[in-house]
Amino acid sequence: MDELEVLADWIRNSGSIVFFGGAGTSTESGIPDFRSAAGLYQAQQGSPYPPEVMLSRSFFMAKPDIFFDFYRSKMLHPEAKPGGAHLLLAELERQGKLKAVVTQNIDGLHQLAGSRAVLELHGSVHRNHCMDCGRFYGLEFVLQSADRVPRCSDCGGIVKPDVVLYEEELDHDTLVGAVAAIAGADLLLIGGTSLTVQPAASLVTYFRGKHCVLLNAEPTPYDHRADLRIKGRIGEAMAAVQRML
Ligand code: NAD
Ligand code: ZN
Repeated sequence: MDELEVLADWIRNSGSIVFFGGAGTSTESGIPDFRSAAGLYQAQQGSPYPPEVMLSRSFFMAKPDIFFDFYRSKMLHPEAKPGGAHLLLAELERQGKLKAVVTQNIDGLHQLAGSRAVLELHGSVHRNHCMDCGRFYGLEFVLQSADRVPRCSDCGGIVKPDVVLYEEELDHDTLVGAVAAIAGADLLLIGGTSLTVQPAASLVTYFRGKHCVLLNAEPTPYDHRADLRIKGRIGEAMAAVQRML
Protein backbone atom coordinates (compact mmCIF):
# COMPACT_ATOMS: atom_id res chain seq x y z
CA MET A 1 0.00 0.00 0.00
CA ASP A 2 1.26 3.47 -0.71
CA GLU A 3 1.49 6.08 2.06
CA LEU A 4 -1.72 7.87 1.18
CA GLU A 5 -3.63 4.57 1.11
CA VAL A 6 -2.31 3.77 4.59
CA LEU A 7 -3.48 7.17 5.80
CA ALA A 8 -6.90 6.66 4.18
CA ASP A 9 -7.14 3.26 5.85
CA TRP A 10 -6.27 4.64 9.30
CA ILE A 11 -8.83 7.45 8.84
CA ARG A 12 -11.51 4.90 7.85
CA ASN A 13 -10.79 2.87 11.00
CA SER A 14 -10.57 5.79 13.41
CA GLY A 15 -13.38 7.27 15.46
CA SER A 16 -11.38 9.94 17.21
CA ILE A 17 -9.11 11.95 14.93
CA VAL A 18 -7.35 15.15 15.98
CA PHE A 19 -5.39 17.45 13.68
CA PHE A 20 -2.50 19.61 14.86
CA GLY A 21 -1.35 22.12 12.27
CA GLY A 22 0.43 25.29 11.38
CA ALA A 23 1.15 27.83 8.68
CA GLY A 24 1.98 25.18 6.04
CA THR A 25 -1.69 24.17 6.04
CA SER A 26 -2.48 27.54 4.43
CA THR A 27 0.43 28.13 2.02
CA GLU A 28 -1.49 26.45 -0.80
CA SER A 29 -4.22 29.02 -0.11
CA GLY A 30 -1.70 31.79 -0.81
CA ILE A 31 -0.77 32.71 2.78
CA PRO A 32 3.01 32.59 3.28
CA ASP A 33 4.36 30.65 6.26
CA PHE A 34 7.31 31.84 8.34
CA ARG A 35 10.09 29.31 7.78
CA SER A 36 9.83 27.97 4.21
CA ALA A 37 12.13 29.33 1.49
CA ALA A 38 9.15 31.38 0.27
CA GLY A 39 8.19 32.29 3.84
CA LEU A 40 8.06 35.63 5.60
CA TYR A 41 11.42 35.23 7.33
CA GLN A 42 13.23 35.13 3.98
CA ALA A 43 11.07 37.85 2.43
CA GLN A 44 11.82 40.21 5.32
CA GLN A 45 15.59 39.73 5.26
CA GLY A 46 17.25 43.13 5.16
CA SER A 47 14.33 44.78 6.95
CA PRO A 48 15.48 46.74 10.03
CA TYR A 49 13.01 44.76 12.14
CA PRO A 50 12.84 40.96 11.75
CA PRO A 51 9.31 39.49 11.88
CA GLU A 52 9.79 37.94 15.32
CA VAL A 53 10.68 41.39 16.67
CA MET A 54 7.76 43.13 14.95
CA LEU A 55 5.39 40.44 16.21
CA SER A 56 6.39 40.90 19.84
CA ARG A 57 4.33 42.55 22.56
CA SER A 58 7.03 45.09 23.38
CA PHE A 59 7.33 46.16 19.72
CA PHE A 60 3.54 46.42 19.43
CA MET A 61 3.44 48.74 22.44
CA ALA A 62 6.43 50.84 21.32
CA LYS A 63 5.73 51.17 17.58
CA PRO A 64 2.11 50.26 16.85
CA ASP A 65 2.19 52.11 13.49
CA ILE A 66 5.03 49.91 12.14
CA PHE A 67 3.39 46.83 13.66
CA PHE A 68 0.12 47.51 11.83
CA ASP A 69 1.89 48.28 8.51
CA PHE A 70 3.55 44.84 8.70
CA TYR A 71 0.48 43.09 10.06
CA ARG A 72 -1.89 44.46 7.38
CA SER A 73 0.49 43.84 4.47
CA LYS A 74 1.87 40.42 5.47
CA MET A 75 -0.47 38.72 7.94
CA LEU A 76 -3.94 39.61 6.61
CA HIS A 77 -5.24 37.67 3.61
CA PRO A 78 -9.00 38.22 3.56
CA GLU A 79 -9.29 36.80 0.05
CA ALA A 80 -7.75 33.38 0.91
CA LYS A 81 -9.90 30.28 0.43
CA PRO A 82 -9.62 26.94 2.28
CA GLY A 83 -7.43 24.27 0.69
CA GLY A 84 -7.45 20.47 0.57
CA ALA A 85 -6.42 20.04 4.21
CA HIS A 86 -9.06 22.42 5.59
CA LEU A 87 -11.77 20.80 3.46
CA LEU A 88 -11.01 17.18 4.39
CA LEU A 89 -10.80 18.02 8.11
CA ALA A 90 -14.17 19.81 8.01
CA GLU A 91 -15.73 16.82 6.25
CA LEU A 92 -14.31 14.37 8.83
CA GLU A 93 -15.78 16.49 11.62
CA ARG A 94 -19.21 16.43 9.89
CA GLN A 95 -18.95 12.63 9.80
CA GLY A 96 -18.26 12.60 13.56
CA LYS A 97 -14.79 11.10 13.10
CA LEU A 98 -12.70 14.18 13.84
CA LYS A 99 -12.92 15.62 17.34
CA ALA A 100 -10.78 18.75 17.09
CA VAL A 101 -8.49 20.86 14.96
CA VAL A 102 -5.69 22.35 17.04
CA THR A 103 -4.04 25.09 15.02
CA GLN A 104 -1.24 27.59 15.38
CA ASN A 105 -2.79 29.55 12.51
CA ILE A 106 -4.59 32.82 12.95
CA ASP A 107 -6.23 32.97 9.53
CA GLY A 108 -9.66 31.43 10.25
CA LEU A 109 -9.54 29.14 7.20
CA HIS A 110 -10.59 26.02 9.14
CA GLN A 111 -13.83 27.73 10.18
CA LEU A 112 -14.34 29.02 6.63
CA ALA A 113 -14.11 25.40 5.44
CA GLY A 114 -16.83 24.43 7.93
CA SER A 115 -14.87 23.17 10.94
CA ARG A 116 -16.43 24.05 14.29
CA ALA A 117 -14.21 22.37 16.89
CA VAL A 118 -11.18 24.58 16.26
CA LEU A 119 -8.71 25.41 19.02
CA GLU A 120 -6.71 28.45 17.95
CA LEU A 121 -3.56 28.39 20.06
CA HIS A 122 -2.31 31.70 18.70
CA GLY A 123 -5.64 33.51 18.38
CA SER A 124 -7.34 34.88 15.28
CA VAL A 125 -7.23 37.90 12.98
CA HIS A 126 -11.03 37.84 13.07
CA ARG A 127 -11.18 38.93 16.71
CA ASN A 128 -9.93 42.34 17.81
CA HIS A 129 -10.57 44.29 21.02
CA CYS A 130 -10.09 47.85 22.19
CA MET A 131 -7.27 47.81 24.71
CA ASP A 132 -9.03 50.45 26.85
CA CYS A 133 -12.76 49.65 26.90
CA GLY A 134 -12.73 46.08 25.54
CA ARG A 135 -15.14 46.71 22.63
CA PHE A 136 -15.05 43.94 20.00
CA TYR A 137 -14.18 44.57 16.36
CA GLY A 138 -14.07 42.20 13.35
CA LEU A 139 -11.40 41.91 10.70
CA GLU A 140 -13.11 44.46 8.39
CA PHE A 141 -12.60 47.23 10.93
CA VAL A 142 -8.85 46.65 11.00
CA LEU A 143 -8.66 46.37 7.20
CA GLN A 144 -10.65 49.52 6.57
CA SER A 145 -9.34 51.75 9.33
CA ALA A 146 -8.26 55.06 7.80
CA ASP A 147 -5.47 55.45 10.37
CA ARG A 148 -2.35 53.29 10.43
CA VAL A 149 -3.26 52.27 13.97
CA PRO A 150 -6.94 51.28 14.28
CA ARG A 151 -8.65 53.24 17.07
CA CYS A 152 -11.82 52.44 19.00
CA SER A 153 -14.89 54.40 17.79
CA ASP A 154 -16.10 54.69 21.39
CA CYS A 155 -13.03 55.69 23.34
CA GLY A 156 -10.09 56.14 20.95
CA GLY A 157 -8.10 53.24 22.45
CA ILE A 158 -5.90 51.08 20.23
CA VAL A 159 -7.75 48.11 18.74
CA LYS A 160 -5.47 45.10 19.22
CA PRO A 161 -5.83 41.85 17.29
CA ASP A 162 -6.47 38.79 19.49
CA VAL A 163 -3.29 37.27 18.12
CA VAL A 164 -0.75 35.86 20.55
CA LEU A 165 2.41 37.90 20.11
CA TYR A 166 5.89 36.84 21.19
CA GLU A 167 6.24 37.59 24.94
CA GLU A 168 2.52 36.91 25.45
CA GLU A 169 0.94 33.86 27.07
CA LEU A 170 -1.33 31.40 25.35
CA ASP A 171 -4.96 31.38 26.41
CA HIS A 172 -5.27 28.93 29.31
CA ASP A 173 -8.56 27.29 28.33
CA THR A 174 -7.45 26.81 24.72
CA LEU A 175 -4.23 25.19 25.89
CA VAL A 176 -6.03 22.85 28.30
CA GLY A 177 -8.56 21.97 25.59
CA ALA A 178 -5.78 21.21 23.12
CA VAL A 179 -3.98 18.90 25.56
CA ALA A 180 -7.23 17.05 26.33
CA ALA A 181 -8.07 16.68 22.64
CA ILE A 182 -4.63 15.36 21.70
CA ALA A 183 -4.48 13.03 24.72
CA GLY A 184 -7.90 11.59 23.80
CA ALA A 185 -7.22 11.01 20.10
CA ASP A 186 -6.67 7.59 18.53
CA LEU A 187 -5.26 9.08 15.31
CA LEU A 188 -3.19 12.27 15.41
CA LEU A 189 -2.56 14.05 12.12
CA ILE A 190 0.18 16.67 12.31
CA GLY A 191 0.75 18.88 9.30
CA GLY A 192 2.17 22.06 7.84
CA THR A 193 4.18 23.00 10.88
CA SER A 194 7.89 23.24 11.55
CA LEU A 195 7.12 22.21 15.17
CA THR A 196 9.58 24.81 16.42
CA VAL A 197 7.27 27.33 18.11
CA GLN A 198 6.87 26.51 21.81
CA PRO A 199 4.86 25.72 23.84
CA ALA A 200 2.56 24.82 20.92
CA ALA A 201 4.85 22.21 19.31
CA SER A 202 5.37 20.22 22.51
CA LEU A 203 1.61 19.56 22.72
CA VAL A 204 2.04 16.67 20.29
CA THR A 205 3.89 14.78 23.06
CA TYR A 206 0.55 14.29 24.89
CA PHE A 207 -0.62 11.85 22.21
CA ARG A 208 -1.18 8.29 23.50
CA GLY A 209 -3.28 6.84 20.68
CA LYS A 210 -2.68 4.31 17.93
CA HIS A 211 -1.21 6.17 14.97
CA CYS A 212 0.54 9.47 14.46
CA VAL A 213 0.96 10.81 10.92
CA LEU A 214 3.14 13.77 9.98
CA LEU A 215 2.41 15.57 6.71
CA ASN A 216 5.06 18.20 6.09
CA ALA A 217 7.21 19.52 3.27
CA GLU A 218 10.38 19.43 5.41
CA PRO A 219 11.69 17.38 8.34
CA THR A 220 10.76 18.47 11.87
CA PRO A 221 12.27 17.83 15.33
CA TYR A 222 9.37 15.42 16.07
CA ASP A 223 9.66 13.19 12.98
CA HIS A 224 10.74 10.20 15.11
CA ARG A 225 7.35 10.24 16.88
CA ALA A 226 5.41 9.63 13.67
CA ASP A 227 4.35 6.15 12.51
CA LEU A 228 3.97 7.53 9.00
CA ARG A 229 5.61 10.55 7.39
CA ILE A 230 4.22 12.04 4.18
CA LYS A 231 6.56 14.53 2.60
CA GLY A 232 5.13 17.15 0.26
CA ARG A 233 2.16 19.43 -0.06
CA ILE A 234 -0.45 18.73 2.60
CA GLY A 235 -3.38 20.19 0.62
CA GLU A 236 -2.68 17.94 -2.36
CA ALA A 237 -2.15 14.91 -0.12
CA MET A 238 -5.36 15.48 1.85
CA ALA A 239 -7.38 16.07 -1.34
CA ALA A 240 -6.05 12.77 -2.72
CA VAL A 241 -6.96 10.99 0.54
CA GLN A 242 -10.46 12.49 0.45
CA ARG A 243 -10.99 10.95 -3.02
CA MET A 244 -9.99 7.53 -1.60
CA LEU A 245 -12.43 7.63 1.34
P1 NAD B 1 6.43 27.63 10.12
O1 NAD B 1 6.47 28.71 9.10
O2 NAD B 1 7.42 27.63 11.19
O3 NAD B 1 6.56 26.21 9.39
C1 NAD B 1 5.75 25.86 8.32
C2 NAD B 1 6.08 24.42 7.97
O4 NAD B 1 5.16 23.99 7.00
C3 NAD B 1 7.48 24.24 7.38
O5 NAD B 1 8.08 23.11 7.97
C4 NAD B 1 7.20 24.00 5.89
O6 NAD B 1 8.13 23.12 5.32
C5 NAD B 1 5.84 23.39 5.93
N1 NAD B 1 5.03 23.65 4.74
C6 NAD B 1 4.87 24.81 4.07
N2 NAD B 1 3.97 24.67 3.09
C7 NAD B 1 3.55 23.37 3.13
C8 NAD B 1 2.63 22.60 2.38
N3 NAD B 1 1.93 23.13 1.37
N4 NAD B 1 2.46 21.30 2.71
C9 NAD B 1 3.17 20.74 3.73
N5 NAD B 1 4.05 21.42 4.47
C10 NAD B 1 4.23 22.72 4.19
O7 NAD B 1 4.92 27.58 10.67
P2 NAD B 1 4.38 27.12 12.11
O8 NAD B 1 5.05 25.90 12.55
O9 NAD B 1 2.91 27.19 12.02
O10 NAD B 1 4.86 28.28 13.08
C11 NAD B 1 4.77 29.62 12.67
C12 NAD B 1 3.94 30.55 13.52
O11 NAD B 1 3.53 31.56 12.63
C13 NAD B 1 2.69 30.00 14.09
O12 NAD B 1 2.72 30.30 15.41
C14 NAD B 1 1.54 30.78 13.43
O13 NAD B 1 0.79 31.42 14.42
C15 NAD B 1 2.17 31.88 12.66
N6 NAD B 1 1.72 32.02 11.26
C16 NAD B 1 0.43 31.79 10.91
C17 NAD B 1 0.03 31.90 9.59
C18 NAD B 1 -1.42 31.63 9.25
O14 NAD B 1 -2.30 31.84 10.07
N7 NAD B 1 -1.70 31.11 8.05
C19 NAD B 1 0.94 32.26 8.60
C20 NAD B 1 2.28 32.52 8.99
C21 NAD B 1 2.64 32.39 10.32
ZN1 ZN C 1 -12.62 51.54 23.37
